[in-house]
Parts: sequence; structure tokens; C-alpha cells
Amino acid sequence: MVSWRKKLSIFSLYGCLAFVAGCSSSPEQVSSEIFAMDTLISLDIWSDNGKAILKNCENYLYTLENEFSTTLETSEIYQANHNELEWSPVSESVGEVLVFSQEMYHKTKGAFDPSIYPIVKAWGFTQEKNRVPSQEEINVLLPYVDILAVDYVIETSDLYLPTGMELDFGSVAKGYAVDRLAQLLKEENVKTGMISLGGNIYTIGKKIDGSAWNIGIQNPYGGGVVGSVQVFDKAIITSGGYQRYFTQDDETYWHILDPRTGYPADSGLASVTIISDSGLYGDCLSTAFFVLGLEEAIAYYYEHQDFDAVFISTEGDIYITPSLNGVFQLTKSYTSGTVWVIPDEE
Ligand code: AMP
Ligand code: MG
Repeated sequence: MVSWRKKLSIFSLYGCLAFVAGCSSSPEQVSSEIFAMDTLISLDIWSDNGKAILKNCENYLYTLENEFSTTLETSEIYQANHNELEWSPVSESVGEVLVFSQEMYHKTKGAFDPSIYPIVKAWGFTQEKNRVPSQEEINVLLPYVDILAVDYVIETSDLYLPTGMELDFGSVAKGYAVDRLAQLLKEENVKTGMISLGGNIYTIGKKIDGSAWNIGIQNPYGGGVVGSVQVFDKAIITSGGYQRYFTQDDETYWHILDPRTGYPADSGLASVTIISDSGLYGDCLSTAFFVLGLEEAIAYYYEHQDFDAVFISTEGDIYITPSLNGVFQLTKSYTSGTVWVIPDEE
């Protein structure tokens, strides 16, 4: 006869074995790579139902492309930019991004303005026929850059875009997309994953071994990374002149323009990486800070303190927000500049 004590210990042994077995069957890694939204997208998730979930993600990305693309003729933004009418039907997501962009326009004193498209086109950055427009041409187009003149009517989901104006959400759509994908994955109970839209990243949870993700920050002046940050559950978004540019008569012109002048931003920054809870916010900030430069970006940081950042100056120096001290690891072989920690207080 087995005593109750023994029965209990046999039961706990089985219980433990079942628990150990449960722990050892960690979810499977499933990956996908597609080209959409004008960039290479890679999705890596750990889930037992990963294939079906990734299919949903891919379909969702094509939906976003059909809403936000400036070059796809069927997209809502393309239609709004090209039809003769001032009112166009759009999805709620376009309305949401427009309203957020207007808020960010105010917060960044006009450095961030997605109605800059007529000037982006004049520089040939979308058609890949790059050219330097004349000052006269820029002067004619500048009055059409004014995101506050655009409107969205929530009740009917209609966009108001005055004649002559055109929108380009290229500076925010990827950040918006990583947020929405992360939300979709969390609703599907995915606890571990990494989303990358052309290097704009969202990390879901920690890695499967429980450690933080190690995300490299690209060297704007060559291959490789200047360093890396250890993060989890964050969006990591980078803007840099090196990402799209052309050279003419020994001058380099890049794709991030100062809406006040219509010329490529020349603020002394080579790249800006924002680490934040929201990819949409990070994407607006990275573009805006590239225009504003380090000093104004730091002033914004002191005022808001709701993100972390890695700034790389055109001289190669690296500036990090205080909480990245010890989190940012410099690549040993990077000797082109010094790492500076922005002080905690002004
Ligand atoms: P990002 O890589 O997120 O910084 O976005 C850069 C893209 O946004 C450019 O390729 C342009 O299409 C557009 N853009 C350029 N300058 C600005 C600006 N000042 N504000 C908003 N969008 C911009
Ligand atoms: Mg951006």
C-alpha cells in the first residue's frame, strides 16, 4: 500500500515532469520576407501558429501600402494627390496619421511636414531622376507646403487637400506600420518577435532566451554599425542622409528636406535614431531632428523626455540620451568620433 505521503510525492514528480515538458516546448520561430511600402520587410516571430499570423501581417502591410504609397496608382494617397477634386475618401489610418502629423508639425516648429511632396518631387527623390531644382522653382512650390491647410473629416473619413498640394507620408508610414503590426501580433498572443521595415524596427518582448535584443546603429559613413543598443518592447527608428542621396558637382543632396527652405536639411547631423514606445512618434521625431539639428533636438528632449535617441554628427561624434548610458555599446573598431552622454538636466 502506498502511503498518502508517497502518493503526494509521486504526484508532485509527475507534476514537475509535466511542467518541465511544458517549458521545454518553446514556440517555434517563423520568418517572412516581403517587399512592400518601398522597402524590404522582415518579420520574425516565435509562435505555434506563426505561419497563419505572418500571412495576416503580410496582407495588412499590402493594405497599408494601398493606403499610403505615393507611387502606387491605386493607393488612397496617390488618388488624393492626383485627382482634380479637393475632397477624397481615405481610410481611418490615413486620417489618424494626418492628425498626428499636424500635432508633430506644431511640436517640431514646422520641421516635420509631410505636405513637402511637391518639393521632394522637384528634387526627383521619388522618380529616381535626381536633379537640383532652381531657386525660382522652389519659391513657386514652397507656398504649397502647409500641412495645417489639410483636413480630415472623421465622420465621413474624407480628406481635404487644397489644389496644388500633395502629401507624402514616407516619413511616418513605416513607423505607423511597425506599431500596427506589433499590436496585431500582441493580439495574437505573440510574446517574442522582431519587425523590421527597411531597418525601422519594433521588438516584441525579450528574445526567446529572456535577454534583450541587440540592435545595431548603422554607420552613416560606411558599412557596419557604430554601436548597438540593448532594448525590448521598443520601436527603433533611424533617419539619415545616407539612406537616399545623390551627388552633383561634388555636392551631396539627400532626401530629408527643410520645409522652411525647400533644400536638403543641413543641420550638422548625419543620422538620428529614436528609441520609443511608438514607432509613429519615433518616425516623426527622427525626420524632424535631422532637420532641426542637435541643439534643438536636445531642447525638445528636455521638454518632453518621452524617448531615447542616438545622434551621429557629420563629424562622426555620437550623442546619446542619459538613459542610454551603459545601454549603448560602441563598436570597438569605430574610431571616427567620441561618445557624449547628454546631461540629465539642462
Ligand atoms: P525618413 O526616412 O522617415 O526620415 O523620411 C524621409 C522621407 O520623408 C523623404 O524621403 C521624403 O519623402 C519625406 N520628407 C523629406 N523631408 C521631410 C520633412 N521635413 N518632413 C516630413 N517628411 C519629409
Ligand atoms: Mg521618419
